[in-house]
Amino acid sequence: MRAPAPTPKRTVYTEAMEIFHRAADLIGLDKRVRLELEEPDYEHIFYVTAKLKDRLVPLAPEQARDFANLSVTQVRNPEGLERLADGKIILNGRALLGSDVNISRGHLRLPDGNVYQLVPGESQRFKAYRVQHNQARGPYKGGIRYHREVSLDLFKALAAEMTWKTAISEVPFGGGKGGIQIDPRSYGREELENITLRFMYRLKSLIGPNIDIPAPDVGTNGDIMALMYRQYSDGERERHNLRGIVTGKDVRIGGSEGRAAATGQGVAFCIEDYFAEKGETLKGKTFTLQGFGNVGSHGAAILQKMGARLLAVNDADGTLFNGDGIDVPALIAHVNDPKNLRRSVLGFAGAQKIEKKDFWEVPADICIPAALGGEITADVAERLKVKLIAEGANGPTTPEADRVLQKRGIDMIPDIIANAGGVTVSYYEWIQNKRMERWSEAEVNQRLEHAMKRNYRIIRDISRNQARRSDTHDSRPFCIGKEVDPRCAAMILALKRIEAHYLLEGFSQ
Ligand code: NAD
Repeated sequence: MRAPAPTPKRTVYTEAMEIFHRAADLIGLDKRVRLELEEPDYEHIFYVTAKLKDRLVPLAPEQARDFANLSVTQVRNPEGLERLADGKIILNGRALLGSDVNISRGHLRLPDGNVYQLVPGESQRFKAYRVQHNQARGPYKGGIRYHREVSLDLFKALAAEMTWKTAISEVPFGGGKGGIQIDPRSYGREELENITLRFMYRLKSLIGPNIDIPAPDVGTNGDIMALMYRQYSDGERERHNLRGIVTGKDVRIGGSEGRAAATGQGVAFCIEDYFAEKGETLKGKTFTLQGFGNVGSHGAAILQKMGARLLAVNDADGTLFNGDGIDVPALIAHVNDPKNLRRSVLGFAGAQKIEKKDFWEVPADICIPAALGGEITADVAERLKVKLIAEGANGPTTPEADRVLQKRGIDMIPDIIANAGGVTVSYYEWIQNKRMERWSEAEVNQRLEHAMKRNYRIIRDISRNQARRSDTHDSRPFCIGKEVDPRCAAMILALKRIEAHYLLEGFSQ
């Protein structure tokens, strides 16, 4: 008797690719194109090492009792101490200069009263990745993530998402993604600088402004992009021509106006268009938000300006609720307060703390997941009391949850269109760098609005099988003769646009 074929292991990547296979089946995607897209072009794994600094590690109160007689060491240069989100303190050389240092068995007491163990800095190795998924439509493009929970499997899924997203938003790029397995909040500024420079040193031979263009993602920002640019271009005679090696840079060094807010802005444009079609505006609409980082905070601020109210927000540290609406600019100020080391929403005076499980049950018009993937599970989908989900995050809804949401009639603006504003304005930044131009914020946002709404309308038409041409869009080449759910419609748009390249250009031999 023949043994049954083993069931393939379910991973984040296989889950993410379920929708690809469904759309590919529906449109009868060319067999060879399917093989090309099923796996990434390249999967790079490499290691980055760095020498860490000395740290002061706080003792638990019961351990600290052994040092009851230890007198306080005055710190004459408090700037030499860098407090980290994990409670440890980095001791920069100058911190204790000129102080009377009282050390007992490798421990000292700081003016905050706590006893700390002095732990000498050691070298550490970090695992780093860059997945280059597909470049049929242009150079690989995708973010750099610094997070503890990353893996090759996750980066494969995120890189493939970028291939679909760049096609949907009609920017001339393919898909890539990468980063480092690290919790950036547990490292000091100079340490992160060294790790980033070393990361780019290794990455340099694999990327280029016309080959693969990174951008910020979870745990990275414009400061990290600035370091990556410097490391890539250092010493090159034509270094200014290389500015397009990364996007998401500070506007003062070649970043685009509107890039920092672009992903949140794109989410808001989609939501606005969703309601506009029903003859409604955002005035008086309510929303809940998971993740108050780049995407979440900008998105919330823009929606509030449009007249919507934020009722509840959840981040890595906790959840807040205010039935009258949370004041978004005030919450942004709280999160950005230098004393708020974890950059957490917790501790904000303008709302009450609630449990995470209750967050998902807050009744509202819209829920915006803008944190990590896999957060809306089937169980969460059963409990949601919203009418619309707009996916700011990448892959926040599991395939099972998708089925539950469809059954419950909860509408969905899928990630590959909803959060495409970031990569769209990254493209504008890249063009500005190439042309040595500078566009105004109004110009950037006007282009972004057209691009987002045009492609979102095509996706809605594919979903309803309503082939038509309007002043703003033409969905006729993409409708497939039957209705499909919006996520599948978005994937159909991506696959048809990518397939055209292979079918018209052919395969290089
Ligand atoms: P960020 O690092 O600026 O913020 C992440 C936020 O998520 C923080 O508020 C953090 O506290 C919260 N968070 C982390 N883990 C959580 C958990 N387990 N539960 C609840 N909240 C948690 O990241 P970002 O740039 O805003 O990206 C957020 C999402 O949007 C990611 O999925 C990212 O891939 C996606 N995205 C970002 C961009 C961009 O331009 N930044 C573009 C497209 C998609």
